[in-house]
Amino acid sequence: MSVHSLRGFRDLLPADAALFAGIEAAAREVFALYGYQELRIPTIELKELFVKSTGDTTDIVEKEMYAFTDGGGREVAVRPEGTPGMVRAYIEQNLSQTGRNAKYFYMGSMFRAERPQAGRYREFEQIDVEHIGNAAPFADAETIAMLVKLLEKVGVEGCSVEINSLGCAECRKVYRETLLAYLRLNAATLCEPCKGRIERNPLRALDCKTDGPALAEKAPKLALCPACAEHFARTQQLLTMAGVNYKVNPSLVRGLDYYTRTVFEVKTTALGSQDAVAAGGRYDDLVKSMGGPAAPAIGWGMGVDRVAMLLKDKLAIDGSPKTFIVSASADAQDQAFRLLAALRAAGISADSSNLTLSLKSQMRSADKSGAAFALIIGEDEVKAGTVTVKPLKEKGEQFTVPVSDAPAKIKELLERKNL
Ligand SMILES: [Zn+2]
Ligand SMILES: [Zn+2]
Repeated sequence: MSVHSLRGFRDLLPADAALFAGIEAAAREVFALYGYQELRIPTIELKELFVKSTGDTTDIVEKEMYAFTDGGGREVAVRPEGTPGMVRAYIEQNLSQTGRNAKYFYMGSMFRAERPQAGRYREFEQIDVEHIGNAAPFADAETIAMLVKLLEKVGVEGCSVEINSLGCAECRKVYRETLLAYLRLNAATLCEPCKGRIERNPLRALDCKTDGPALAEKAPKLALCPACAEHFARTQQLLTMAGVNYKVNPSLVRGLDYYTRTVFEVKTTALGSQDAVAAGGRYDDLVKSMGGPAAPAIGWGMGVDRVAMLLKDKLAIDGSPKTFIVSASADAQDQAFRLLAALRAAGISADSSNLTLSLKSQMRSADKSGAAFALIIGEDEVKAGTVTVKPLKEKGEQFTVPVSDAPAKIKELLERKNL
């Protein structure tokens, strides 16, 4: 048997994993500033949850979901997106009753069996936020401003925010009929999947990768009811107040059933394709439709893989240890082992290779380790109670210090030389 990963799945080697961790750390800092708390949800849920919330006519549910029957005969699915699970948790855990703001973030893998392409994987990482229980346009402006802040903080350049309003259930009901009439007349021009689903969900055609662009130009446009128009205008006012540069894009429709009113995407010129790095919107009716209280909500998701791809050349994160310990003789092994512990206790990262190997082999590992200093203990050092410090990253003479002084001395050198 040859071992290999599945198509569309990949390993994150340490440099990439460090980049992901850096993005996550930045996100945690930004979320704390805005009053968001972490909530972790399961990776697997009942399939029905996604069918009912994401929508049974969406590509995600129709074609891309990893769904299977488990050993107990339950129809389950590996989460293709996070919002349905968050809404389920909000309802199941009675989070509307805590008396606190329901502002949550979560990070982790989502799974969709999409056609693999550059920067797109079947297991992909998302950083998501949900703000549940706030209908006011302030929530829209705040959540979008926070997203922009995060992208700025991690260093994504050339971001542009596009927003649109999909209206409420009332405006959608009227529009559904208008659009359906138009689509029936023009059914011959639609792709096969759309032909099959316009009767069930005419809005889906607007989001179809094949038909969407043409329809956005020609199909009748949604007319917002006065309340939705007011909400959208106010949201724009507040975005301006928050210093967010945005553009209204009337053909922006998000491919999930539950969106209402404000939807948005952040695109960047830095990516070749016009793919969004982050996107989201309001889902004012979802919590109630899933059996919960009337709790209007808004959220977004950011593709960590895309953001990491953008930052790769900019943020070389070095996870190498600062020091690498070498034992130059058999009787120095215990001393070397103690020194590793002493350095780590002093907060200095320290590593070694197999301390029983030859000096030459250990030095070779030290050179490759990325460490700033090799700390060498041999027969002479054991006798004298010292350690020899050899700079690896920059030119400089090696020198000897008493072993008890080594952590303080190394710390001072690392700080002074900014290594
Ligand atoms: Zn409306
Ligand atoms: Zn189509």
